[in-house]
Parts: sequence; C-alpha cells; structure tokens
Amino acid sequence: MTPENLYIHVPFCNGKCDYCAFYSEPEVKEESAQLWLNKIKEDSRQHDLSHPLETVYLGGGTPTALPANILSQLMTFIQTLPLAENAEITSECNPGSLTREKAEIIKGTVNRISMGAQSFHADLLKAIGRRTTPVQVAQTFDLLRNVSGIQRLGLDLICALPGQTMQIWKEDLEKAVSFQPEHISAYMLIPEPGTPFTKKFGEEPPLSEELQAEMWEFAGDFLDSYGLSRYEISNHALPGGECRHNQNVWHGKTYLGLGPSACSFDGKDRFTNAAPLSEWLSGVPPEIDSVSEEIRRREVFMMGLRTVRGWNKSEFNWNDFLPVLQLLQDDGLIKISEHAVKPTKQGLLCWNTIAENLI
Ligand code: SF4
Repeated sequence: MTPENLYIHVPFCNGKCDYCAFYSEPEVKEESAQLWLNKIKEDSRQHDLSHPLETVYLGGGTPTALPANILSQLMTFIQTLPLAENAEITSECNPGSLTREKAEIIKGTVNRISMGAQSFHADLLKAIGRRTTPVQVAQTFDLLRNVSGIQRLGLDLICALPGQTMQIWKEDLEKAVSFQPEHISAYMLIPEPGTPFTKKFGEEPPLSEELQAEMWEFAGDFLDSYGLSRYEISNHALPGGECRHNQNVWHGKTYLGLGPSACSFDGKDRFTNAAPLSEWLSGVPPEIDSVSEEIRRREVFMMGLRTVRGWNKSEFNWNDFLPVLQLLQDDGLIKISEHAVKPTKQGLLCWNTIAENLI
C-alpha cells in the first residue's frame, strides 16, 4: 500500500498508569530505544511511501519520554519522509516528560501536540496511578508554547473517574480552558480487564450511566462556550484545530502503523504489529484482520458517524444502508439529507447503538 497517513508507536513510558491498556514498557532504556528506532527505519523501507503523507502521528507510550539523542534522530527520520505540504505532525506528550532540550529538538518538526493532563486534581491522579502533577502540566505547556513555538496544543482529560463529582469535572474543564488550548479531548474512563485499575475498582464503570451522560453533555456545552466545538464523540477544537490524523482514520483513509502493537489499514485489511518490543524486534509478523469487503465498508461507514460532520454523498454512497438509516433517523440518532448523513447529539452519545445496527 502507499499510505496516506503514518502512525509511529513509541513503546516507552516513565512508569505505568493503573488504567492503561496500551502497550508500553514502564521504563525508557536508551539501548532499547535505539533498537526500536533502527527497526522503525528498517520497517519503513519495506513500504511504498511515495504518496506524500498527509499526517504523521507519534503515539504511545510517551514519545517525549525518549532520550534526547533518540528523539533527535526520530525528528531527522520524520524530516526524510515524503511529507505533503502542510502535513500535520502530532506528538503525544506527558506532563514532566519534556525538558527544555527536548522542546528545542521537536521545534520545527512537530506542529501539533496532544498532552495527557487527565485531571487537575492531584488526589484523582494518584487514585488512577498517574505520576504527573498539575504543576507539570503548566510547565510543559509553557515549554511547548514558548520554546517549541507549537501553535496547535491539545489537552486530554478523563472523566467518570472514581470519586469524581460534577463539581470536580467542572473545575477540571475550567482549568483546562484557562491554558487556551486549541483542542481538548474528554474521554470517559473505560475500565480495561486485567489492569491494576480493575483490580482496585472492579470492572464496572465507577460512575452511573446517568452521571456519565451528564458529564459528557456538560463538557460539550461548556467547551462550546469557549469556541471549542465537539467534532467527534470525545474531541473538541477551535475552528481548524481538529486532529486531521484522527479525522482521516475515522473516514477510512489508509494509514501505516510502525512499531510494536501499531495498527495499519490498507483500505481493505487491518494489521496489528506484534508486541511486546522483544517479539516485534525479532520479526514476528503482524496479525491480519481480513473481513469481507461488505463488512469493511460498513465498519468504515460507522466510524465516520463518530464525527459531527458524518458523511457526504461524494465520499460514501450509503444508498444500500437506507432502510436501517431510516430507522436510526426515526430513533433520533442520525439526520439524513440529500447530500449528507450526520449523527445527532443523541447519536453521538449512543454511538454504540448506531454501530450495532450497521454491522
Ligand atoms: S502515560 Fe499513557 S501510555 Fe503511558 S502508561 Fe500512562 S496512559 Fe499508558
């Protein structure tokens, strides 16, 4: 495939958060990081990267936890890729993982940041096994704005945490907007089986469905009043501040995933790279998820309905889904017009119902 987008999985963090189900090593060792980067480069040469990349997304893990020397090599590698003009280069970042030196290193290459603040309440952060502090959020944000000079900064928050009240959630949102970010993600906590979180709090969501819905609704209205409009179930941005990489993924564009546990989509099949790091380094091949063309089409369609803009007829012809789409419209979950189909606010909140009906 000649992918339109690239995802690079950086499998290192400074510790491990209790709720995390992503693959990452809890320690950054320079030697392992160098082996990882060498293989990223080697794997990239196995693919046809002749189509200018619209987006590159460094996720993980914590890309900014990489040693400065490796981070610098990674930036050089990205600059050698065939990038489209105005390509979006995002890096995830954790508070406290970015030094002034690293802020200088990413300057000029990374042009968008997604930082995991999660909460501004130290006791909540501690309860979910985060090692970062609200003070580190402020320090890191300052480095990104004033040293890296990055214009598009995003903060990630988690709601529906154990012991979180509506008042605490409001305070977290207020604090987040006080940084004047261009993007805010507000994710519901989903307890993942097998994590220390579920051992401590159980597998059921800690807050009632009603309170979760109330928090989701409040976040939408509150952020909207600051110009950060919801454009996907959990994502809000100033006009033009939307994450293009994720928008492309939700709308079925192709992407190549490099690194352990990274996923790829070639327009037909999905692939998941081997993990942990040792398996991936030793060359264990990716797992292929191959389904019929019809199922894939439906999957792509339902993913696009996670976004407020939904689908335009010129992008996706949904005529054969019309009977089920009519029923979803009767239930108030989507809105069909001649040229577009979009989820309603209720449809975004109950997206699982839309997905179940389409698959
Ligand atoms: S920082 Fe992110 S990727 Fe790393 S352990 Fe915590 S939640 Fe997982």
